[in-house]
Amino acid sequence: MFADLRGRTVLVVGGGTVALRKAAALLEAGARVRVGAPELAPALAAWVAEGRIEHVPGPFVAQWLDGAWLAIAATDDAGVNRAVAEAGEARRVWVNVVDDVEASSFHVPARVVRGPVQIAISSGGGVPMLSRHLRETLETQLDESLGALAQLLSRERERIRKHYPELGARRRFFDRVLSGPIPSLLRQGRGEQAQRAFGAALVESDPAAAQTGSVALVGAGPGDPGLLTLRGLRVLNEADVILHDRLVSPQVLQLARRDAELIDVGKPLAGTLSPANHHSTQERIHDLMLEHARAGKRVVRLKGGDPFVFGRGGEELEVLRDHGIAFEVVPGITAALACGAYAGIPLTHREHAQSLRLVTAHLKDANDGLDWRALAQEKQTLAVYMGVSGLDVLRDKLIEHGRAASTPFALIENGSRPEQRVVTGTLAELAERAQSHRVQSPALLIVGEVAALAERLHWFGEAPLTEMPAPVPAESYAVAA
Ligand code: SAH
Repeated sequence: MFADLRGRTVLVVGGGTVALRKAAALLEAGARVRVGAPELAPALAAWVAEGRIEHVPGPFVAQWLDGAWLAIAATDDAGVNRAVAEAGEARRVWVNVVDDVEASSFHVPARVVRGPVQIAISSGGGVPMLSRHLRETLETQLDESLGALAQLLSRERERIRKHYPELGARRRFFDRVLSGPIPSLLRQGRGEQAQRAFGAALVESDPAAAQTGSVALVGAGPGDPGLLTLRGLRVLNEADVILHDRLVSPQVLQLARRDAELIDVGKPLAGTLSPANHHSTQERIHDLMLEHARAGKRVVRLKGGDPFVFGRGGEELEVLRDHGIAFEVVPGITAALACGAYAGIPLTHREHAQSLRLVTAHLKDANDGLDWRALAQEKQTLAVYMGVSGLDVLRDKLIEHGRAASTPFALIENGSRPEQRVVTGTLAELAERAQSHRVQSPALLIVGEVAALAERLHWFGEAPLTEMPAPVPAESYAVAA
């Protein structure tokens, strides 16, 4: 119920914890709260002593409703609650009986609150659990900055009306403001800039010029849609155009706005080469980002894992910066973190690993520029990206530079996805294991003492494959390049 209760009397019948909760909410709404009960919980009694609420003692009588606009029956006695409802009915006072749909003349909705913006959800009183579920869904979708936005716009209401007396023009102005940079500035806590941008938008003579697009570089995480961040979900919901990699799982793409344009710009992954796949170049991605942003679209550049971990995110931002396109970055859960978690491998461990390195390399190049001595150090965890091929070279170099051949490894294929597989063993047998289990991209390699913990701590999907499978003829297995 959206009612202005400021200075209006509301009766709460009951003196326990439920009554206390209701009284607190009513005080927050500015109501004059009258609590009627033979006895009060200590917190309620304290409020009476402070003069914040009024107390009418004794058993309920209809006169308690005198002067009240609204009443809440919150006793644990169904008979008393009904009496309050009946007395309210006779006097035309709206009554909510806690947990009694039938007896209530109004229901209390589930609420989503962002400053002055409130969303009330009702299931007609019948299925409060459903309302609660919807509330959770909305909570995830609505950004905290919505409150600040509502405050700014209501503060400026008069000015907006003066500038745009005509309803259609005013509506277009609001559309422009809501899809422009102001919400994003407020989200970043940059209130002053938001205010200035608002001032500029108000006097903007050319509406087209104000309609600038933007690009959000978003990490989609490793595959499990539950690992997308709330911010990531929100920008996906707002996106007009989504440029996504092949690594982004279909489940994450399903979270995008229904009418968003989805463009697969996936460069073929090692191991998934197929002639049917369209080979996009990095230039094509740059062109598409610029083209759509310039057309005023909200573009999401969606990448697997985190956009700044082996994702060329930096290069894409350089391009946007050079062309004056507004951008933001939403981090994602990178493969190393996700695979560690979903395979039961803590990446650092007091006893086994004091540091973690994220590496990728074209391991077949002799001149790879990597510091192998550093990589081969003990008590450190290596997370190797894009490492399905060249595992024999990797093993040789690590051992050559001092890593024990008995160091445990885990190869995690399709980490966090339903198809996840984990192959474990020791460094000496790394390449053979990967080959005999036909590990495919995307797969992440973890080398280090901690990898052995997967056998005890795994919890997701199948247990790690610790044994060699039955041998397969070598020629039937083509190593992914
Ligand atoms: N930006 C991404 C990495 C891109 S490089 C991130 O932060 O995760 C691509 C490599 O990431 C793959 O070859 C593989 O090694 C790893 N990878 C990405 N997703 C993976 C997944 N679900 N399971 C295993 N490895 C994954």
